[in-house]
Amino acid sequence: MFLWIFLIFIIGKEIVHAYLSWRNLKYATSHKEIPDILKDIITEENFKKAKSYLKDNTIFGFISQAFDLVITLVFLFFLYPYIENFVSSITSSFVLQGLLFFAISGLINLILSLPFQIYDTFVIEQKYGFNTMTVKTFILDIIKSIIISVILGTPILSLLLYIIKVDPNFWWKFALVVIFFEVFMIYIYPVLIAPLFNKFIPLEEGELKNKIMEIADKNGFKISNVFIMDASRRTKKQNAYLTGLGKTRRVVLYDTILSYPQEEILAIFAHELGHHKKGHITKSSILSIVFYVLYIYLTFLVYKKAPFTQYFGIKKEFTILLYSFMFISSLFYFITPLVNAISRRFEYEADKFSAEILNTPYPLINALKRLIKENLSNIYPDPLFRTWYYSHPAPVERIYSLLTLDKEAKSK
Ligand SMILES: [Zn+2]
Repeated sequence: MFLWIFLIFIIGKEIVHAYLSWRNLKYATSHKEIPDILKDIITEENFKKAKSYLKDNTIFGFISQAFDLVITLVFLFFLYPYIENFVSSITSSFVLQGLLFFAISGLINLILSLPFQIYDTFVIEQKYGFNTMTVKTFILDIIKSIIISVILGTPILSLLLYIIKVDPNFWWKFALVVIFFEVFMIYIYPVLIAPLFNKFIPLEEGELKNKIMEIADKNGFKISNVFIMDASRRTKKQNAYLTGLGKTRRVVLYDTILSYPQEEILAIFAHELGHHKKGHITKSSILSIVFYVLYIYLTFLVYKKAPFTQYFGIKKEFTILLYSFMFISSLFYFITPLVNAISRRFEYEADKFSAEILNTPYPLINALKRLIKENLSNIYPDPLFRTWYYSHPAPVERIYSLLTLDKEAKSK
């Protein structure tokens, strides 16, 4: 019985995802008119290109997802039990067995995912003129990711494996280590990890910087500078983000948005500042800590009760824990809409903040329009799909909401 529940969730999650993606494509292609609000910037050609980009991505998604599902099942029924056996024959140390198990499984997964990553970058993104990555950057990125996983992953994983081995009620210690690691990662990411992949250059002295610092000062945001990231070495897509914790907190702008009019860059900066002022990183960190604890506790319960050994022939604690984790994560897939609903609320708040401190929503509206055009965003995402997956409201919704704010402000 449990085996069926387990498989229904593992497979069901993929079916729901495929269904939502199909709905999303159908919804977008059924809309033939550019919304009035975008007619000044989006051309017919651009509109068609965005649809075709969505279509290519959706079809590619179906294929890679089907492949993933097959691989997951092969792993569950054959590969994980086989690798477990193999590592047990190599060493008698539990921690070493666990490390080898995850290293081998991770490597196989990486190799299997490579053709898909290559196709996505060098065929799809290339076709739409987004990709600026060379083969060299692509390969170096993978090598760097492996090295970072080994350096950061080995000590943390060894500690977790040790805890599992010595304490049968390991869940809360396990959760503490995971939370500590998460906070540590948020702190070091902007200064130690991100610079391994990109160059971060402080915005040069000048009018733009002065205006940014002025806005930051006025709103009590203590920063020495804003960082420009050389995103253009990988993509032409455009973005900005707030990152870090305490002293490493910073706003990062993609170099791809530097060609925007100054007031639009300021509006984008003000949006990121809004995330800082409204405590969004802190709030979402607290939420993810709650999630982690719940996640780990539920995984632990499944680990204690579920008869994985009987169905799959696995015996090691770390393998059983992995299966339990996979089960819980397929359950958690169904609360994705809730997590994204919170994130979308934060985005509206940050947009509102930007409009308020600049005394006008129009620069942000124009920046959003530019983003829709340049990133080939889907103008008509399916309502159910975007409720489920969109961490940001659809750009058009953001524009409408900003316009409503403007009307309200003017009527006061
Ligand atoms: Zn945002």
